[in-house]
Amino acid sequence: MSEIAADPTHPRYQSLLMRHRLEQAAKKGMLADSALIAHGRGEAFDYLLGEQTIPSALIATKHALGLLMAAERPVLSLNGNAVALAGSELLQLASRLGCPVEINIFYRTPERMEALLTHLHELQSALGLEVPIFGAAPDARIPGLEGPRAKCCKDGIFSADVLLVPLEDGDRCEALVAMGKTVLVVDLNPLSRTAQLASVTIVDELSRVVSNMNELSHQSSEVLMSPSFHNSEVLSSSLDHIAEFLAEKRD
Ligand code: ATP
Ligand code: MG
Repeated sequence: MSEIAADPTHPRYQSLLMRHRLEQAAKKGMLADSALIAHGRGEAFDYLLGEQTIPSALIATKHALGLLMAAERPVLSLNGNAVALAGSELLQLASRLGCPVEINIFYRTPERMEALLTHLHELQSALGLEVPIFGAAPDARIPGLEGPRAKCCKDGIFSADVLLVPLEDGDRCEALVAMGKTVLVVDLNPLSRTAQLASVTIVDELSRVVSNMNELSHQSSEVLMSPSFHNSEVLSSSLDHIAEFLAEKRD
């Protein structure tokens, strides 16, 4: 790790740490070529949010966690960036929820799948957890999607009622919603198709979201869920927040 990334007092420590995790994951063959570009787009929006969990994102995080707890078949869907940025924390969350994780990547190659599965199994044994990890042998397809990105596991994503899909692509988010699933997404861009189409959109950085969920996981689903939750309000609050942030910077 560079000297700056190793110094927690550096003002850009968190951001540098996340970049470092992605660099390491890229070296292990876990990421698609476009992964760093997707991260850069996220970083730009995070800057506009003040690199913090804004109040509306915390409401969405709590609501999403409550839905996962109350679900019959919850699943956490993981792509390369999610595993690289918060693999251990996502396994801890799945363990607390008693649910499986499934590796579901957009650009599926046997080498990437192998690298991601190996990495997750290593994290899992270091943590002493026994979370079911799906993805190695897909035996179902998400209707409405073409090619390898439709592949999924029958006992995982295919049969899930509530799905957490961090950093999802817009097409797949739409196809999962069309299957009747409750789709919870984490996306720093409140304007992306994913953010607009999801059942619940958490406009926040993935590693912050997962650590918030782990901290809140001792609470009950009734306490966490908002009876009057409207995703459109979460999206407009995040846009208001960005507008206020920019207005402050101008003054
Ligand atoms: P869509 O397909 O939904 O229209 P897109 O094509 O614009 O979105 P993608 O490249 O598919 O975007 O996915 C990257 C998305 O993930 C971006 O919206 C980006 O803001 C978001 N993102 C990237 N890194 C993070 C992160 N660490 N935490 C939360 N969101 C992130
Ligand atoms: Mg996309």
